[in-house]
Amino acid sequence: MIKRTNPPLPAASGAEDLIRDRNLLRTILETIPDHIYFKDIDSRTVRCSLAHAKFFGVEDPKDMVGKKDFDFFSEEHARQAFEDEQRIIRTGEPLIGIEEKETWPDGRVTWVSTTKMPLRDEKGEIVGTFGISRDITRQKESDLEAKNLTAALKRSNQELEEFASVASHDLQEPLRMISGYLKLIVQRYQDRLDQDGQEFIAFAVDGAQRMQAMINDLLSYSRVTTQGKTFSLIETEAMLQRALLNLKVAVDEAGARVTHEAMPAAMGDERQIERLFQNLIGNGLKYRRPGDVPEIHVSAQKKDSEWVFGIRDNGIGIDPKYFDRIFGIFQRLHTREQYAGTGIGLAVCKKTVERHGGRIWVESEEGKGATFYFTLPVAPDLPKKTTP
Ligand code: ADP
Repeated sequence: MIKRTNPPLPAASGAEDLIRDRNLLRTILETIPDHIYFKDIDSRTVRCSLAHAKFFGVEDPKDMVGKKDFDFFSEEHARQAFEDEQRIIRTGEPLIGIEEKETWPDGRVTWVSTTKMPLRDEKGEIVGTFGISRDITRQKESDLEAKNLTAALKRSNQELEEFASVASHDLQEPLRMISGYLKLIVQRYQDRLDQDGQEFIAFAVDGAQRMQAMINDLLSYSRVTTQGKTFSLIETEAMLQRALLNLKVAVDEAGARVTHEAMPAAMGDERQIERLFQNLIGNGLKYRRPGDVPEIHVSAQKKDSEWVFGIRDNGIGIDPKYFDRIFGIFQRLHTREQYAGTGIGLAVCKKTVERHGGRIWVESEEGKGATFYFTLPVAPDLPKKTTP
């Protein structure tokens, strides 16, 4: 028995109603930009909208009567559509909101979002199908473009990472050789070099040392992802304490006051979060105003599904125009003579936070201290212990 899923076409109650119904139907078929079609039991078009006819390059919808999908589409697509319609006729089950890929004999591809229903006569018997399709080719193309762009971006990020990792490894060896031989020259020939010669060698040694520092930095940057540990539930309080222990000498030397609020548990990589606190607090100590006692405050606040951590200092501050730049690799606002460093610290912080699914940013005014913020996802609720 055929299952009825939609009511039979309503019988018009009188001639006027009939005319009104026909006018309504004509209005729909002539103006709606979607493709509407009625087909018989053999999937031959009985009637269709103007937009549907035009989609096939046919000016008058009457010329579509008797036409099949095989007259327009590729054999492959026409067969698929035919099989779908025959199944609807057999089972009475409609197809609702499916995305159809249409292929054409000239190789073109178009996409439609389609609903196909069984067409019933007044007695409820299935006599064909009818359907409505909306052209979604442009939307599909831009989806595809976005997908391709994301894939390309992912590829280029991966390539960049591989490059950073390989370059830093491969550069080590020749650099070691340069440094080694420079050392030999100093040891064996220093006495024989005049003042200029000694100065040149000193420059070369300094250059080699700087390069070594940069290579190490590049390595640690690429290791954020290549050697990152899987996340676990961590007590950020303990990470902060360890970071402060590592910074003890610098804190004491600067006579700094470091305070903090209660730190939460979060999901993360212990070593990386420790290093994150260390870099940000270390910067707070380093970029202090000469003559001032550095004051650093670490805060943590829950906002929706994340923790927002803040590291506030009373140091030299940052001009807002550099807010983005400082998070780039080897980007610095000062010379080495003013403040030691290579400019990798904040880039590592950014990569670390992003690996944890968070964001990092800074708020500051020149001369008025800076606050660096980063977010971490809130730890998921753990099953509570129940007492029997
Ligand atoms: P580095 O300290 O080696 O230069 P970073 O990546 O940690 O590298 O910092 C980049 C730049 O951002 C620094 O050169 C400095 O100009 C600025 N900066 C970072 N932290 C602070 C801070 N707490 N106060 C003021 N400026 C800062």
